[in-house]
Order: sequence, then C-alpha cells, then structure tokens
Amino acid sequence: TQAHVQAVEAARSLNAYITETPDKALKMAEASDARRAKGEAGVVEGIPLAVKDLFCTEGVLTTAGSHILDGFKPPYESTVTGNLWRNGAVMLGKANLDEFAMGSSNETSYHGPVENPWRRQGDNRPLVPGGSSGGSAAAVAARAALAATGTDTGGSIRQPASFAGIVGMKPTYGRCSRWGIVAFASSLDQAGPMTRSVRDAAIMLRAMAGHDEKDSTSVDLPVPDYEQALTGDIRGLKVGIPREYRVEGMPQEIEALWQQGIQWLKDAGAEPVDISLPRTHYALPAYYIIAPAEASSNLARYDGVRFGLRAEGAGSLEELYELTREAGFGREVKRRVLIGTYVLSAGYYDAYYNKARKVRTLIAQDFHDAYKEVDVILAPTAPSAAFAIGDLVDDPIAMYLNDVFTVPASLAGLPAISVPAGLSGDGLPLGLQLIGKAFDEETVLRVGGVLE
Ligand code: GLN
Repeated sequence: TQAHVQAVEAARSLNAYITETPDKALKMAEASDARRAKGEAGVVEGIPLAVKDLFCTEGVLTTAGSHILDGFKPPYESTVTGNLWRNGAVMLGKANLDEFAMGSSNETSYHGPVENPWRRQGDNRPLVPGGSSGGSAAAVAARAALAATGTDTGGSIRQPASFAGIVGMKPTYGRCSRWGIVAFASSLDQAGPMTRSVRDAAIMLRAMAGHDEKDSTSVDLPVPDYEQALTGDIRGLKVGIPREYRVEGMPQEIEALWQQGIQWLKDAGAEPVDISLPRTHYALPAYYIIAPAEASSNLARYDGVRFGLRAEGAGSLEELYELTREAGFGREVKRRVLIGTYVLSAGYYDAYYNKARKVRTLIAQDFHDAYKEVDVILAPTAPSAAFAIGDLVDDPIAMYLNDVFTVPASLAGLPAISVPAGLSGDGLPLGLQLIGKAFDEETVLRVGGVLE
C-alpha cells in the first residue's frame, strides 16, 4: 500500500484520480495486516484499488465526474465497494471518469481529461485512455493501482481496457449490485473489474459480485470461485465469429488482430464457427435512445435541493432548478437529457423509445439463437486504438461510433471481457473481446486466459 500511495503521487500528471485517500489507505492496510496476523485473510486481502468515482464511498467525496455533485460525501457505501472492503481490499482513491459515465474518452469529466500512459511511436501527443472508466484504466496501466473498479453501460469498462492495454470485464447484468452506484442508465449499468491480468479479474469479480436485497435486479445465484475456471483448457469449445462485426471501414490492423485471435484459439483446440447476429447494426442507434432516456429520468434528482451544488440568487424554486442544472451539468450530459426527454415525450415515445426497446429484444434474441450453436463469441473490443485528446471531442457521432462492438452485449445484458491481444502499427495496445452466455462468466474468463 505504501508503494502504491507513492505511485499514485508519482502519476499525478495523468489526472487519473479525482480524490486521493492515502491516510485511509494506510489505515485500511494496517487493519488488513491485523486480520492477516489472525489468519483471517479475505479474497483480496491488502490489495490497493482505485475506485471509479461513480461508486458512493461513505464519507469520501463522490463526484460522478460532475460539477453538480460538488462537495457530496455519501453517508453510505455502495454494495460493491463494501464487498471489496469486507474481502480485505484497500482504497487508494477515487478515479476520474466521464461526467455521469457518459463518454468514450474521459474528456467530459468536470475534473479534466485523463492522459493515457501510452504514447504512439513517433508522436508525443497525449492520448485518451478511453471512457468512461478512463481514470481506472490509466491508474491500472500506470501501476498507480493494482486493480480498479469500473462500470460499463455501453462499453465503459471494455473500451478503456482496450485503449490502456489492460483487462476489463463487464459481468452479466445482475451479477453485481448497482446499489450505491450513481445511476446512468439503470437497465444497462453494471460494475466490473479492471486489472492487469485475467486471473486478477477472476479474483476481483468474486470479491465484488453477489446478491443484494437492496438492488431488485441483482440476481440470487451463488458466486463461483472464478479462479477455478482458469484451467487453460478450451479444447472442443465452439467460438462464434459474428460476420456483422466486420463493419465497413474497420481498420486493417483490427481485422488482422481478430484473425490472429481466431488462430490462437484454434491452436488451443477451440473450433471457430461463422455466425450471424443479424440485428447488430441497430444496436448503436437503439442504445443511444435507451441510455439517454433512462439518464434523463435518473438525472432529474439533481435539482439543487437534495445533493451537491446549489446555484445562488434564484428567485423561485423553478429558477433554482434551472440555474443549478445550467451551471452543474456539462455539454454532453445536457445533450443526453435533451435527447432522453425528447424520445420519452408523449408524441415521440412510440416512434423512438418503444421502437428502441423492441430492437433491444431482437438483439438479445440474436445472441440467444447464436448460443444454440456456440459457447462464446470473439470480436474486437473497439474499432480503433486510443486517439489523441481533443481529436473527437467536438464530434459526438464519431465518439458514439467507438462503442459499436461493445454496445450489443450491453443491450443483451451479457458478460464480456476485453483482453489485451496485440499492438497497433504505431505501438498502441489493442484488445479483443469475448462475449458469453448470461451468467457464464467462467467460460469468458477461461477463454480470456488463453488469449492474453
Ligand atoms: N460510451 C458510451 C456512452 O457514452 C458508454 C458509456 C458507459 O458504458 N458508461 O454512453
């Protein structure tokens, strides 16, 4: 923990942490030592972690990357972080993120962009770490945390993991409790681990997951010892290769990486199977209706009365809401609230929101049909390597397109992992993604362990 506290300080120029909690870390480490001395070590005993600043942490500033939560210190602990502390982990601090987890580059954070510790060969421009869990990804990649928590609504664990050369896993929707996680899109949000190896992801997930009465969508299933799943034996396993993921304009190096991944799995005794997920191209538009719709509803609670920021000088309650929300939300959040309220409004509900929900069901059905034939699906994680800070920030559509490979599994609620699998031509990490059957994190991890 001491070494990590120093590493957090040394990595400050990356802006990976919004809040550092060194005193708390050292105190937690001492308590951990005491437990260990009594032979009571938990699954992640003494492991120093970064916590995405979307998880409420009792008495510790929780910002969600937004100005509107200014000064907010939750009086309670999220279930997932509580599980981690109960299993022995130590908190180093709260990691930077896109505002309310809306973004793919960590540039929408009120607390400024995060720098990816990686650089392109022959180009010293700072790169984004991906998003929204960009601070978590950068901290783990820069060795300023041994592992981190992330959340993934449409790719926010997997895409930054790919950009930063680490492992990121989104479990099945319902595997981890959402209680105490600042809500973005409640039917999609899921917590998961961001780590240096697949084994670490398995260990972390075991410590994070589990049924929680306080989240009615958390599932009452036993949490397996995921480490046991890492047998390295994938002989006879059928791996689906979805042809619709071969999207137009996909860079040659991403295609080559995907082919390489297929070959590695074949060499290990698995059988690649060409499959079709015919509704894939509707996933992104459906996601960018459903997620803003839910966000606009979830964000209605930030009114200047109950949490954080309160604008000065309002002459009426209505004006207090307006001034606070005007000052407290950034551009991307406002864009999503506008889109969300629009698609939910009486005249457009059926044309947009209801249509998107039907499309979502069809996308889930595509996966369901594919899993009659295969055990797991292999695809790229993202259509590119990390891009430079500032490059896409004014082009929301280009930014949204970055989620093309991660969003379908989110809509279907399926577990998926991104594993570092190679380097781009200019030396940046690239990830491959494995998508599994619902609650079959074990197969995802097992195959991931072979790929890494
Ligand atoms: N990039 C996607 C978005 O902006 C996903 C974000 C996430 O998974 N939290 O909505």
